[in-house]
Amino acid sequence: MSQLQDSFGRRFHYLRMSVTDVCNFKCTYCLPDGYRPNGRDKFLGLDEINNLVAAFAEVGTQKIRITGGEPTLRKDFTDIIRIVADNDKINTIAMTTNGYRLEQHAKEWYEAGLRRINVSVDSLDPKMFYQITGENKFDKVMRGIDAALEAGFERVKINAVLLKGLNDKDLPSFLHWIKNSPIDLRFIELMETGLGRDYFQTHHLSGADIKSQLITDGWSRVPSAVEDGPAQNFSRSDHKGRIGLIMPYEQHFCASCNRLRVSANGKLHLCLFTENGVDLRDLLQDPSHRPELIERLHGQLAQKKETHFLHDGITGVTQHLASIGG
Ligand code: SAM
Ligand code: SF4
Repeated sequence: MSQLQDSFGRRFHYLRMSVTDVCNFKCTYCLPDGYRPNGRDKFLGLDEINNLVAAFAEVGTQKIRITGGEPTLRKDFTDIIRIVADNDKINTIAMTTNGYRLEQHAKEWYEAGLRRINVSVDSLDPKMFYQITGENKFDKVMRGIDAALEAGFERVKINAVLLKGLNDKDLPSFLHWIKNSPIDLRFIELMETGLGRDYFQTHHLSGADIKSQLITDGWSRVPSAVEDGPAQNFSRSDHKGRIGLIMPYEQHFCASCNRLRVSANGKLHLCLFTENGVDLRDLLQDPSHRPELIERLHGQLAQKKETHFLHDGITGVTQHLASIGG
């Protein structure tokens, strides 16, 4: 079966699969009022996930990241990992988490087949962490990271969104932290969502600013591997940790796009920021629909646009990234 490719020659081996919109944190840039159930949400079940994974694997997907909302809040989260792990075409299973349940479950998830974890830690100062996430859980999350390393995860990636006037002063403590720890730190530039322009204008810190601070501090750019996607990577010989910068406002950011997204309600999103999502759910009910599902995927890929329109302030319909997994 031919691989997923768009009309600009980009190939898509990487799927971000959201399994829930629910979250127990209230990050100010994502869900400042917490998750609000709307009574209609019915997230993909295990059979639907199985059919989804099988179809994507057949058209070249090799890496799946399970995300959310907070994916680990699903009671069947370990079963979801197993479904992905059982598909022998998928060689990398990753997840993004706020780390809340990591301490308790890292070993179980590793044993089920999960191999990569990104934990969101927006500050190393417990008070600032609380202020940004709305949860006083810094110590618990840090214990979760230790538990993951002990469980066998070789490297843990940390995601941090640096925000002007909040945690932007934490950059030196982040750099100090990864001096002796094998941590991949990823700074994600704040993206404007449908939540409102005011927050963005007050707290947006440009990725270019962070980059110049790193270069002044002796960090050098290292060539990116294809699987890095749009991240720019940096290293410093006297530091065990590495840094990746995700700068969606940088020119050519979209040129290396290698990922597709499916929301927890089974909608395909070709880009975080451009459209409503295309419903796949009618074709996820039975494995016999797989050829039709694959045809729909190819048809949609042919329509993928070259770039997002964030520069023009067009954020698409993405109200917040918890609905689509970041
Ligand atoms: N709940 C999990 C977590 O926080 O890691 C997974 C879902 S969360 C939507 C995925 C990532 O998106 C997190 O690292 C979060 O910091 C990031 N994120 C959320 N909203 C964002 C925004 N407006 N701009 C940049 N990154 C954002
Ligand atoms: Fe929840 Fe993650 Fe959004 Fe924070 S960034 S509110 S942890 S979904």
